[in-house]
Amino acid sequence: MARHSRKGSRASSSYTGSRATSPPPPYSPPYAGEPHRQQPPPPELTSAPGAGPAGISAAAHLRNSPAARGVDFEITVFEAGSAIGGQLTQFGSPDSPEGAGGPVFPYNDSALDPLRAEDVAGPALLWGNPLFTRSSEDILGGDELEFFDLPSQKVGYYSGDRHEVFVQTTRPYHQTPTWDWLGLILRYGASVWRAGGLLDESAGLRERMASAAATDTASSAFADVPAILASLLGESALPHEGAPETLRRLGVSEAYAAEVLAPQVERGGPSVRISWMSGLALAMLAGREDAGDAHAGGDYTARIREIAKSLGADVRVRSKVVGIERGRPGSGEGENRPVARWLLQHEGAAEAEAFDKVIVAAPGLEGLVVRAAGANGSVEAEEAVEFDAAHVTFFTASELPGRLGGGDWAPPQILFVGDDAEGGMHEVAYVREVVRHHRDGAAGGAPAVLEHLYRCVSGADVSEALLSEPGVTWVHHHRLDHAYPLTYPRTSYPPFAVGDGLWTTAPIYSIGSSLDLSWLTGRVVAQQVIEAVKK
Ligand SMILES: Cc1cc2nc3c(=O)[nH]c(=O)nc-3n(C[C@H](O)[C@H](O)[C@H](O)COP(=O)(O)OP(=O)(O)OC[C@H]3O[C@@H](n4cnc5c(N)ncnc54)[C@H](O)[C@@H]3O)c2cc1C
Repeated sequence: MARHSRKGSRASSSYTGSRATSPPPPYSPPYAGEPHRQQPPPPELTSAPGAGPAGISAAAHLRNSPAARGVDFEITVFEAGSAIGGQLTQFGSPDSPEGAGGPVFPYNDSALDPLRAEDVAGPALLWGNPLFTRSSEDILGGDELEFFDLPSQKVGYYSGDRHEVFVQTTRPYHQTPTWDWLGLILRYGASVWRAGGLLDESAGLRERMASAAATDTASSAFADVPAILASLLGESALPHEGAPETLRRLGVSEAYAAEVLAPQVERGGPSVRISWMSGLALAMLAGREDAGDAHAGGDYTARIREIAKSLGADVRVRSKVVGIERGRPGSGEGENRPVARWLLQHEGAAEAEAFDKVIVAAPGLEGLVVRAAGANGSVEAEEAVEFDAAHVTFFTASELPGRLGGGDWAPPQILFVGDDAEGGMHEVAYVREVVRHHRDGAAGGAPAVLEHLYRCVSGADVSEALLSEPGVTWVHHHRLDHAYPLTYPRTSYPPFAVGDGLWTTAPIYSIGSSLDLSWLTGRVVAQQVIEAVKK
């Protein structure tokens, strides 16, 4: 049994922002000077391992929801990485001028803009999310954002066999010019507009999700994944049918699925394949890829950091949870507590910390949750969601090498098709211009050089291969272990509540992984915590 304390080692970085809105006091004495003052109830010590969208959303709901009025949540968020914001913000570098885990700069030149979440996901993808569009400013804090329309973008489908971009579309899809439409129709016939049915289903779903995430009262109706699906999709077959079945139902040809849809949605390692995913996952992934007519505004990392700061929570970065264990009743500060607490062990700390309620919001912690819940068998190991890793590599070059789809005219996003994908490469996208200054003297006062920054998403580490390409001058590789959940069709889903006082946001990954899904789930789970405390 691990030793425990209320507050463990603070070797990790920690900051506590000032509360934007203090919750009302949990107890008000009837009048001043009352002889036998009743003690206010102790705060609910609540922890959320994982400072991604799900964890921050859960903490925000505990703090700000009117439903939580009267409960004093003392919230601690543990984040294994060096930044708040989840997997899109964990691109810290040991070579950073700001030290290990600090921001990454192209050429390691701190005069250049560091890599941002928008560079990792692409601004159209990230901000195409309905949570971040004009209608939903409230969700990210309620203040006004400057939004601007993102331009449409060409997407090329590249065959390594033929060394050519053999077909192209435009994101958003409906802005594909007539000439490209004709090419698509000649090649794929009616499948071109039949596949639009997928995007329609996805668009409706995402809008409903955004409004659900903005509504406080709705969350209590979303008890688990099936309830969320019923509320957002009605009687749709999508979650339970395989994606190949969905494509057959819509009349989309195998050629279109293999050459246009698969390159869009099959990212990560070898297991994220259309043949293994649910129709719903396919619709959501295709819809996300299409999100190009979105508005962008602000900076994702700065926004989510601001929210975290406003919560008055104890948010500790570089604080990795490595153990979750049920304590004995009465554990924690020597109190005579009738209910057992959860003990969280974090890396490098001599003692575990005790919490009344724990919301696990980190995909990588599934194994610990299953083990912790094992005592009452509420989650079986086989119910845990499995993930494929993704490798994201940034590189700079004067121009995109020909072997990666570069040439006289290269679209800004290139998707590799089928087995032609170079060493597991799925996508190469143009990010932005960078100017190399040669300030280190190595170039003997050579003039500044204009180069380009690209992002490559692959199922394997391709940094060596990229470095050996002529013209590539800098490479930064990052492996995301839990990037792509395997979203095979399910008939049953594990619950969010996995033990008395222990919740996990992971079941949502059974239907996909996106910022809006995680944000919604954080709220749903936090609502369950509030209801459990008030019971
Ligand atoms: C390349 C790429 C592009 C993407 N593009 C988009 C996009 O355009 N739009 C979109 O909606 N979604 C996109 N996503 C998906 C999106 O990033 C995820 O759906 C979202 O981040 C999930 O949020 P989360 O809070 O559930 O989990 P995460 O973001 O994974 O957050 C979990 C946090 O927990 C931390 N953690 C892990 N283990 C521990 C531990 N043991 N102790 C403490 N902390 C721990 C992690 O460091 C992480 O910060 C993209 C993902 C990738 C990989």
